[in-house]
Amino acid sequence: MKTFFHLIQEVQKTGLCHRCGGCVTFCTAVNYGALKIDDDGKPGYEDIEKCIECGLCYAICPEIDELEEETKRRANWSQPMGRIIETSVARSTDPAIQAKATDGGVVTGLLLHLFDRGRIDGAIVTRQTGPFQRAPFLATTREEIISAAGFFFDTSQGMKQFSEQYMTYASIDEFDPMVKKGLKRVALVGTPCQINSVRRMQALELLPSDAIKLCLGLFCSGNFVFGTSERAKLAEIGGFSWDEVRKVNIKESLLLHLKSGKTASIDLDDLYAIRRFACQFCTDYAAEFADISFGGIGAAEGWTTVIARTPLGRAALADAKSARMVEEFNYRDNPSYVTDALNLVRSWSSKKKKKARHNRRGLNTSSVSFNM
Ligand SMILES: Cc1cc2nc3c(=O)[nH]c(=O)nc-3n(C[C@H](O)[C@H](O)[C@H](O)COP(=O)(O)OP(=O)(O)OC[C@H]3O[C@@H](n4cnc5c(N)ncnc54)[C@H](O)[C@@H]3O)c2cc1C
Ligand code: SF4
Ligand code: SF4
Ligand code: SF4
Repeated sequence: MKTFFHLIQEVQKTGLCHRCGGCVTFCTAVNYGALKIDDDGKPGYEDIEKCIECGLCYAICPEIDELEEETKRRANWSQPMGRIIETSVARSTDPAIQAKATDGGVVTGLLLHLFDRGRIDGAIVTRQTGPFQRAPFLATTREEIISAAGFFFDTSQGMKQFSEQYMTYASIDEFDPMVKKGLKRVALVGTPCQINSVRRMQALELLPSDAIKLCLGLFCSGNFVFGTSERAKLAEIGGFSWDEVRKVNIKESLLLHLKSGKTASIDLDDLYAIRRFACQFCTDYAAEFADISFGGIGAAEGWTTVIARTPLGRAALADAKSARMVEEFNYRDNPSYVTDALNLVRSWSSKKKKKARHNRRGLNTSSVSFNM
């Protein structure tokens, strides 16, 4: 039976661990408590003696291909980037959410709608825990869902805080509170690797993944760590000062919205050095296993490109639209808007897969998933 010990050898030591947190989330939620996530988001043994060698952390790791086919089958996955039922460009109708959100605030608008209607008891999101830190968080009130919106830098506490590391990454280790609170209907917002990890738990019908009723995936070109020297370099490349940054977003480039109303843009290739190492081997851009995927790419500023991938995802979205919590762009103004947006997502997805395959060629990773 392969266990976390083998994940260390096959995934961590080869540099493929992208810290989705799946292994630790499962082990903690079922109370084995053998694993923990350290301050850098890296999984490791908390107490090796508690490991009962069940092998489940190994099986659910997205970098291991044991469950690849079953996960795809359950998702009706198809080439080139998973099942697509419907694509739209949309935004929240609430100006307060629009102002706080990363793009159009559709993720937050949809979560609020499901919460208000009693369809979910909570949502695993991430929230800001410091000027440059995000942490996973189980939101169980409207206010908490709203507080999680966006992708912000808060520079209000001054330059001193710039010594802290900022990571765009947050793991999914909020299953434990979900279990303790007895919640049975929870939505999860995450990057493609996180969604993939949950889907593998669901493929094995592992408790408590049955409580995750809806997976909302974010398009992802990578996770980045903005340390002090990296921020200095980015400021130099983009010709801006971090004091001036109001909001950060990732689309075709890294966008830094400044307090002056101007926007600085940095090519994603210039972020290569600060991208998490494992992300260079990742093939999933468009959250191919989510119920609904969201990204800013293809949509104008203040709008979100939305791909419904499962009947459940489509129904949730349609419901939020008819309740006027989410509104679609008026396509009469631009009839090819949605097709153009989807083509752009396809092209970024294809680019990411190609690069990942190229980067993997040098690795000695026999059991590691490489199929997409
Ligand atoms: C690391 C990362 C990389 C991304 N890369 C791209 C990209 O290359 N191209 C692109 O088009 N879009 C990318 N996105 C998605 C984009 O930034 C928006 O999240 C998406 O468009 C939804 O916008 P919204 O306004 O509808 O969401 P909002 O209403 O603002 O809600 C966003 C939700 O995402 C959650 N969230 C924020 N950060 C994280 C995180 N690190 N992990 C898990 N959940 C989080 C928040 O808690 C909130 O619930 C990326 C997102 C992340 C987190
Ligand atoms: S499950 Fe995620 S965090 Fe755990 S080893 Fe695999 S990639 Fe890393
Ligand atoms: S108890 Fe199971 S899930 Fe936890 S570390 Fe050991 S093998 Fe992995
Ligand atoms: S690029 Fe892939 S591995 Fe990296 S955070 Fe995004 S989904 Fe996860």
